[in-house]
Amino acid sequence: MINIPKGTKDVLPSESYKWQYVENVAREVSGLFQLKEIRTPVFEHTELFQRSVGDTTDVVTKEMYTFRDKGDRSITLKPEGTAGVVRSFVENGMSNGVLPAKMYYIIPAFRYERPQAGRLREFHQFGVEIFGAKNAQTDAETIAVADTLLKKLGLNVKLYVNSIGCKTCRAQYNKALRAFFEKRLDELCFDCKTRFEKNPLRLLDCKEENCKKINADAPSILEYLCDDCATHFEELKQYLTLAGIEYEIDARIVRGLDYYTRTVFEFVSTSIGAQGTVCAGGRYDGLIEELGGNPTSAVGFAAGIERLLIVMEQTGVEIPEPTPPTVYLAGMDAECRKKAFELATALRKVGVFAEIDYMDRSVKAQFKYADKIGAKYVAVIGGNELQEGVMNVKDMATGESEKVSFTQANAYFLDKSTN
Ligand code: ATP
Ligand code: MG
Repeated sequence: MINIPKGTKDVLPSESYKWQYVENVAREVSGLFQLKEIRTPVFEHTELFQRSVGDTTDVVTKEMYTFRDKGDRSITLKPEGTAGVVRSFVENGMSNGVLPAKMYYIIPAFRYERPQAGRLREFHQFGVEIFGAKNAQTDAETIAVADTLLKKLGLNVKLYVNSIGCKTCRAQYNKALRAFFEKRLDELCFDCKTRFEKNPLRLLDCKEENCKKINADAPSILEYLCDDCATHFEELKQYLTLAGIEYEIDARIVRGLDYYTRTVFEFVSTSIGAQGTVCAGGRYDGLIEELGGNPTSAVGFAAGIERLLIVMEQTGVEIPEPTPPTVYLAGMDAECRKKAFELATALRKVGVFAEIDYMDRSVKAQFKYADKIGAKYVAVIGGNELQEGVMNVKDMATGESEKVSFTQANAYFLDKSTN
C-alpha cells in the first residue's frame, strides 16, 4: 500500500461539505465587498518567492517545495498566495486598469514544516488583495472582510493590529533592535544570530521560547514610526472603531513575510493553542515595484482554511450537512428497478434530488439504505404497482403512505423538494 505523503490530508466525501461551506461563505463575503476571484498557477519561478516573501524568512530558507523541472528551471510550489497575485497584477498590466483592483483567491499552499495540529505541508488559504489604495480606510476595509468572514462562520477570535512602518522608520528601528539584541546575542538561537545580521525585524518573529522571552523586552516599533506612518496607524484605529471591529494593539507582530509595510494584523483563536492564528495579513506598499511593476499600494490577508475548520469544530459551530435525496425509488425486481431508473432520470431532469439502487439489493435492504442516507420519501415499485402505473410513496418522517401515479411523479416530488 502506498501512503499519503507526510503533512498532507485527504478531504473525504463524508467531510468535504464542511470545506465547501467555508469556501461558499468566503465567496459570499467576497461578493459583499465586490472582490473578484483570481486564479494563478500552483507553481511559480522560485525567484518570485525569494524576491517577495524574502530570502531571510523561514518560508524561503526552510519551508519551500522547490525542484528543477525537466527544462532545468527552478520551480516552487506556492507557499503563500500574494506573490503569485502580484506577479499576475504586474504581468497583466493591471495597474493601468481600473483601480482599486480588488480580488480574492482560494488556493492550496505548500510549506515543508513539521506537521502538527493546524500545521500541514499542504494547506489551504482564502486570501484577499486590494491594489491601488494607500489610505488607512482600505486597511480597515480589508480587515473588515476577514472580520465579516470570521463572524459569519461563527468564530469568536481576537484581532491584533500593529504598524511596522515604512523604509524610513524601519531603518531607525533596526538600529534600535541591533543595539538591544547585541548585548544578548549569545542567548539567542542559531537562526536568530543570522537574523541579527541580515534582518533584525525577523528576530521578533522567532518561535523559540527563550528568544520569545528576550523579545518581550525589545524596543517597540510603535515608538519609531515616522509622522506619516503614525498618522496612518491612528486613522486605521479610527476606521476600525467606525466599523465596530474590536482590536488590540500588539507591537510584537511583525509577520513571517518580508514584504509588509505599515499595517500588520492577526486574528487569533485561543482555542487551538500554538497554531491559533487563523488569519493574518497587512499592507505591502513596496512589493509591486519590487516585482517590476509601477509603484502601487496594496493590502491583503490570508486565512488558513484548516485552522478555521479546527476552531469551528472545537467551538461546536454546526455546519449544515448536504441535502439528502427528496426521494429514493425502490424497485422490487429487475423490471421494477428499470422503471425506478427511468423515473429517477426524469426527476433529476426537473431538478429533484432522486436516488435509486445500484447494488441489486432486496426492497427491504433498499429501504434500509434509503433511511441511512436520509431520503425524505421512499417510493416503492412492485409488480402490481408496475402494472397499475403507480408507486407507493412513504413519507419517512410521518410514516404515512399514499399512491402516486408515474405520470404525476415529477409534479409530486417537485412540490416536496427542498433542494
Ligand atoms: P505561523 O506563524 O502559524 O507559522 P505564518 O505566519 O507562517 O503562520 P502566514 O504566512 O501569514 O502564516 O499564512 C496565513 C495563514 O495561513 C496563517 O494564519 C494560518 O492560518 C495559515 N497557515 C500558515 N502556515 C500553515 C500550515 N503550515 N498549515 C496550515 N495552515 C497554515
Ligand atoms: Mg509559518
